Amino acid sequence: MDLKLITQRVQSDLQYIKEFTATPGSGCTRMPFSQETRYTAEYLKKVMADAGLEVREDCVGNIFGVRPGKDRSLPCIMVGSHYDSVYNGGDYDGIAGVISAVELARLLRDEDAELPCDFVAAAFMDEEGCRFGTGYFGSKCMLGQMTIEECRHYTDKDDISVYDAMKEYGLEPERLSEAAWPEGSIGHYIELHIEQGPVLDAEQTEIGLVDCIVGIQRYLVTICGRSDHAGTTPMDMRQDAVDIAAKVISKIGDMAREEGKGTVATVGYMKVTPSAMNVVAEKVDFSIDIRSSDNEVINRIAEKIRKELDEETGKTGASYSIDSKLTITPVNLNPGMLDIMEESCRKRGYSCRRMPSGAGHDALAIGQTIDTVMLFVPSKDGRSHCPAEYTPYEAFAKGILVLYDLIGQLQPQTGSCEK
Ligand SMILES: [Zn+2]
Repeated sequence: MDLKLITQRVQSDLQYIKEFTATPGSGCTRMPFSQETRYTAEYLKKVMADAGLEVREDCVGNIFGVRPGKDRSLPCIMVGSHYDSVYNGGDYDGIAGVISAVELARLLRDEDAELPCDFVAAAFMDEEGCRFGTGYFGSKCMLGQMTIEECRHYTDKDDISVYDAMKEYGLEPERLSEAAWPEGSIGHYIELHIEQGPVLDAEQTEIGLVDCIVGIQRYLVTICGRSDHAGTTPMDMRQDAVDIAAKVISKIGDMAREEGKGTVATVGYMKVTPSAMNVVAEKVDFSIDIRSSDNEVINRIAEKIRKELDEETGKTGASYSIDSKLTITPVNLNPGMLDIMEESCRKRGYSCRRMPSGAGHDALAIGQTIDTVMLFVPSKDGRSHCPAEYTPYEAFAKGILVLYDLIGQLQPQTGSCEK
């Protein structure tokens, strides 16, 4: 197998897809159910078909390409990632993993390889959750963990629900349950992704073998105070939503620091209403994103934040609501699959290390119930979710070869690799 050829093919695909952005010249902006996802989906379907795969788009916008194995009744090996992006993101996050899956299919075709079970290349819709504040939408639909009610509930900043966006895009949200794969039909899930952090690049390590993905809880908090005149309302007669929010928010970072062990907590979104210089704020909406490899730690921080909210709103008679947007528990990835990849790196002479992933991925949702591994390739200077995101194409090619070795050695029964 020719590293150069793989590099060229991956490069050509990624450079083509890069054009499908709503912000040309300012990075990749590919929001779910947008014109850009449509163009990307059509291109993916084409390259999957060219790779000899049986291609289908499901009723939520996930795309699957299947290479039939010897025994089609066995649980499949699925390789994939997502094809949406954040606002002004990079050209590799997610999509590089999808293209790597397509390239694996091309290699299987070139080598005329027959796997014992089906090989499935997967491209998931809306992993980032940027538009609707959710996350892992496509993979959760595949796992049967998303409901029509949730599709109606979650809305974007223009108040368009997932449900309406899907309809507008030409999908049928009423058929959501059909996107769920039967239990036991996916034997293994494998995801190649850019690291999105600085470790591999700084160490000049070629391959990251991800042994754990942190859990996440994400909330939208709304503080409801009262709007009053900023000049005439005495300080002790206010229900100032900004004052309350600021007091709570200022403690969140320290809660994560106190827990340590890589725990992070972020308030990345705030909206003040009415947002005027001379008006006491009536309402503040803000997001909370808590991540740790220890679920207890996440629960503890969420609890502390609730306590602070109770206390701070209680002082003035203001109120608050807290809407859970995402709850996902940390997941340990499959040790047997990691061992196979490590051995492959050794044989091929690629430097590698085991590492946790601080970012959530489709593998986080899928790995909760299915034997899963992730492989990271270096991100230059650790930059990601920005236009500066960069990984040399050859780095993907090396990762793809390691995955090729892995899928060749996987036994189709899920029991073959111990959890
Ligand atoms: Zn991603």
